[in-house]
Formats: sequence, structure tokens, C-alpha cells
Amino acid sequence: MLLRDERRELCGIGRRMVETGLVLGVSGNLSVRRGDLVAVSPAGMRLERMAPEDCPVVDLTGARVEGALAPSSETPLHLAVYEETGAPAIVHTHSTFGAVVASTMTELPPIHYNTLLLGGVVKVAEYATYGTPELAENVRNAMAGGMRAALMGNHGGVTVGADLEDAFENARLLEWLCGVYVRARSLGEPRILTEAQLHAVAERGLHATPLPVE
Ligand code: 13P
Ligand code: ZN
Repeated sequence: MLLRDERRELCGIGRRMVETGLVLGVSGNLSVRRGDLVAVSPAGMRLERMAPEDCPVVDLTGARVEGALAPSSETPLHLAVYEETGAPAIVHTHSTFGAVVASTMTELPPIHYNTLLLGGVVKVAEYATYGTPELAENVRNAMAGGMRAALMGNHGGVTVGADLEDAFENARLLEWLCGVYVRARSLGEPRILTEAQLHAVAERGLHATPLPVE
């Protein structure tokens, strides 16, 4: 079985995505890349119900190399994000506050300095129908420049990481930042950190986890 450990890991993190409320029902997907192969969650399956053999392995063109089930409909998005970021793992969620921000804003205003852990100010990729090459391109553009996260217009969020666990933690951080922003808006007009303030934090060494070099 190709990428046995990676496919097992997809099931473990998939379950945690459901348990932590980052996805609901048949939504969200995740993948891990090893060289020219990508293990990805199957299309249309609840992430807590996946078994390792349910997760197909595809090549970098999206062609299925192993597995009986069709790969996630967002496989083109995953492949585009791998190409753009060079990261080895991707998580896509439909988390609540992420979807709220992604439906109203063009970026997540930096009101908390921990946005630097995601590579900077998180952009909202322009809306396109799920599973389309257009959506893949919009998300690729939003991830450019060393970003570890993007929001997807009227849809959800995407994060990458140094491994699957790190991509999952980045998804939790993105949801936390969106939750802080939405709740702050309900109290008043949040103070947005200036570039100089963010720069001062970066100077102290706060930055995204480095990605492994392949
Ligand atoms: P899949 O079940 O095909 O992965 O699709 C879920 C989803 O979130 C689409 O954006
Ligand atoms: Zn989705």
C-alpha cells in the first residue's frame, strides 16, 4: 500500500477536524504530499468515517495511482497550493468564523499579532464554484508570498504546514483569529495593527513554522 502511514494520518487528523468543529458533515478535505505522490481524502465522505484505504493516492497531475474511491473534488486546489507553497500538507475547512469573515471581507484585518504565525495578513481568495480550476487559481494567488493560510470567498479556509499536524494547528489558529475578529466587531470597531507594529513583532522572531526542504 502506497503512503500507508500518510493515509493513516489523514484519518486521524480528519477525525480531529470534525471533533474540533472545523468541518461538519461532508465538507472539508486534507492531503499529504511525498515527492510526486499525494494522499488525499476521498470525495464526498465524512472525514471521521475514513479508513486509510479509502484515501486515494494521486500524482501531481491529479491522476489516481492507487485507491478505489475518487479523490476529493478539491484535488486541483490542493495541487495548485502544493505548487505555490512547496508545503508537504494541506487542510481545507468550512469552519464557522472563517466562513463568516470569508463572506464579508477581502482580508482578515490584523487585530492580533499571531497572524504572523500564518505568514502575515490572511487574504480572502475570490469566490468560485467548489472543485473548479478557477477556485484553485484564486486560492493559489491568495497563498502567494510565503503564506500558510487563505480564506476562500463565501466558503471556508485553507492552511498548509510543515506536516499534517502543523497544517491542522494552523487551521485552528486561523479559526481562532477569525473568531477574535468577529467577536471584537460585535463590541466595537477593533484597532487594526499597523505595519510597523507587526514589523516590531516579526523582529522579535515570531514567524510561521519553517517548511521542510524536499
Ligand atoms: P470533497 O468531499 O469532494 O472533498 O468536497 C468537500 C468540500 O469541502 C468542497 O469544497
Ligand atoms: Zn469546501
